[in-house]
Amino acid sequence: MMCPLCAAPTGTTRGYGRTFYACPLCGHLFTRDYDETQLRRGMGMEGSWSGPGGGGYREYCLVKILEQLCGMKSFLLFGTGNTPTLARLLAEGVDVVGCDISPDVVAYKKSVHGEERFDQPDALPGGRLFDGIVAVEVIEHFVNPLESFGLLFSCLAPEGIVAGTTDFYPGGPIEDANRYMSHKGHVAYWSQASLQTVAARFDRSVTAFEMVRPGSILPDEKFRLLWPNKRVFFMHGRGENGRRLRALHHDMDILDINMP
Ligand SMILES: [Zn+2]
Repeated sequence: MMCPLCAAPTGTTRGYGRTFYACPLCGHLFTRDYDETQLRRGMGMEGSWSGPGGGGYREYCLVKILEQLCGMKSFLLFGTGNTPTLARLLAEGVDVVGCDISPDVVAYKKSVHGEERFDQPDALPGGRLFDGIVAVEVIEHFVNPLESFGLLFSCLAPEGIVAGTTDFYPGGPIEDANRYMSHKGHVAYWSQASLQTVAARFDRSVTAFEMVRPGSILPDEKFRLLWPNKRVFFMHGRGENGRRLRALHHDMDILDINMP
């Protein structure tokens, strides 16, 4: 199996009864053991662990960070599912569009917010460019990462930023306390190095932060232990927005996104 990012031959490792492929060059870790139907269906109206109509707090926080830090005005919530984030931001007057792979979610959101406010990923290259694209717990579902990131960057304004969350592979065994890669829909286990490899293809860099686990309060001397692999990442260019994110990271490498 070749690495989908740099075409190097990969080695294999096992976890949760699945075979994973590890690239010796860029560190990308991925599996081809997944259910195609499930991957195409997405999370549907039920959502994931947050349940129907729940979750979305991280998406909301990332939009606020991009608004406040970079003065961004237009946003795409990529893979937002049935969270209330789109409705919440629209009620605040934010220019935001939602997108999800689940046909039932697309139909429902279009009926509530209008045809122009929600789309399938395939329908996105419609000439609209967004300042910020937010993809929370999405990129671990990318089977063809260059294609999927290509879609995202094709919808991004020149100084735009792609932001999201995922678990970063810390090295060592695949299996961990959070059982992140046991989920059949999770096919890519990213790291700073492999995400940076993708970013470089699109002339971008990655700045990543640790995230406070829900219920933890800063300052908390133990919080680094509470959600060890979760990362908030920003893929940005070399311009002013990239400098702002690097400066933020210099000041604090943990983001206080502390609700579920
Ligand atoms: Zn590679």
